[in-house]
Amino acid sequence: MNLKKNTELVFQQIADASQEANRALDAVSVIAVTKYVDVQTAEALLPLGVRHIGENRVDKFLEKYQALKDYPVTWHLIGTLQRRKVKEVIPYVDYFHALDSLKLAQEIQKRTDHVIKCFLQVNISGEESKHGFSKEELLELLPELAKLDQIEYVGLMTMAPFEADSDELKEIFKDTQALQAEIREKQIPNMPMTELSMGMSRDFKEAIQFGSTFVRIGTAFFK
Ligand SMILES: *Cc1c(COP(=O)(O)O)cnc(C)c1O
Repeated sequence: MNLKKNTELVFQQIADASQEANRALDAVSVIAVTKYVDVQTAEALLPLGVRHIGENRVDKFLEKYQALKDYPVTWHLIGTLQRRKVKEVIPYVDYFHALDSLKLAQEIQKRTDHVIKCFLQVNISGEESKHGFSKEELLELLPELAKLDQIEYVGLMTMAPFEADSDELKEIFKDTQALQAEIREKQIPNMPMTELSMGMSRDFKEAIQFGSTFVRIGTAFFK
């Protein structure tokens, strides 16, 4: 694994995809998903220009955070969070990407002493194995979610099915972007909805085409 070369390639490909989509070069933030590697390898990314680190599990998140917290890094928890683990991890999280139930939102509200930036995870494709709100469910719950003033709903997060082809990916990301706009237009004070967390190593190109502002990239850094 050549970390320097991989990192340069990731940044270059994201810049190219942004340009092709007529997006500004700084419109898309790259989260390096370090779940495949140890602390030392994650640390080696920082002098290469990585500013965002993401982990999908609480224990791994805390391990990386404790070791690297003195670096100028923005910390993303990107995976499913059990309610009983909220208390343990939420003080260290800058962005939480997988808010997928009202009960979880209420637990975050109860346990935090500062406003937490959260993405509402949506399951646009209706795939059964994926977490997230359906469109209808989310629109119905918005008034309840909006009452939780310790949460800033910065945007929507989605994960496309592994086997989706390019047309299916585009449809999923387009529908997610449309739902983001629909919620943003409601102008709810703690729901700015300016961000979209979509795109992984295999589908960031399509995600950037449909307005992604945070791509979550693992494999491409560490292959
Ligand atoms: C692992 C993971 C990623 C990164 O996936 P790659 O295909 O390795 O780029 C992104 N988002 C979530 C939620 C993940 O768990």
